[in-house]
Amino acid sequence: MAAARGVEFCYGTRINALEHDGEQIGAISVTRPDGAFDSLKADAYVLALGSYSPLLARPLGLALPVYPLKGYSATLPLQDASAAPMVSITDEEHKIFISRLGDNLRIAGTAELNGYSTALNAVRCQALIRHGKMLFADACRWNEARFWTGLRPATPGNVPLIGRTRYRNLYLNTGHGTLGWTEGPGSGRALAAIISGQRPPVEFAFTGV
Ligand SMILES: Cc1cc2nc3c(=O)[nH]c(=O)nc-3n(C[C@H](O)[C@H](O)[C@H](O)COP(=O)(O)OP(=O)(O)OC[C@H]3O[C@@H](n4cnc5c(N)ncnc54)[C@H](O)[C@@H]3O)c2cc1C
Repeated sequence: MAAARGVEFCYGTRINALEHDGEQIGAISVTRPDGAFDSLKADAYVLALGSYSPLLARPLGLALPVYPLKGYSATLPLQDASAAPMVSITDEEHKIFISRLGDNLRIAGTAELNGYSTALNAVRCQALIRHGKMLFADACRWNEARFWTGLRPATPGNVPLIGRTRYRNLYLNTGHGTLGWTEGPGSGRALAAIISGQRPPVEFAFTGV
């Protein structure tokens, strides 16, 4: 839908650095999928690289309080669909989240502070399976689990950083922690308002870096 409205997506393109003249960003240097270096210019730049945002902000002198908080998921094929939940379930006590994805069940959770490593820790993987079995023993083929880890861009208060930086054309939309999918559309809308010089519907605690 965005592409139909004129958005150009640059898949497989790595951002190497944000180039600045002290007051504003002049360009970003990138590496294209074929290995070619390139430079992209814009009126405004939004830094929205999740856990990786601080790495590109640091050379600009911006210290973003965002840290990678590793989470795990296990995706399992259903064995008996009638024994599996149809709606999303949150086990508050164990901080485990269970979602039905068609013919699969996905169990997600845990929080691990381990830098940028996305290596799978077998003990944590098995903890997800143990909780899943406890709740829905007959639902899945438990020995066919596919495990995954991802880095949540966590801030100390779980409040995202949305707004302008001290570079007048550089904005932040990052640090969504455990709730990026939930908050993404609202964050995007709020930041669009800020860039357009309007007041967003939410007063963000973030006052700039
Ligand atoms: C196990 C797990 C379960 C979760 N469950 C939920 C849930 O149920 N509901 C919910 O709302 N949220 C959930 N989340 C949180 C959600 O996934 C994050 O908040 C969200 O993905 C953050 O979005 P983002 O776009 O800011 O960052 P990311 O999704 O991390 O995206 C950042 C992107 O930037 C790219 N990138 C980084 N550096 C560069 C570079 N130099 N050049 C080019 N590209 C770069 C990365 O490749 C990545 O694609 C969960 C997270 C985990 C780990």
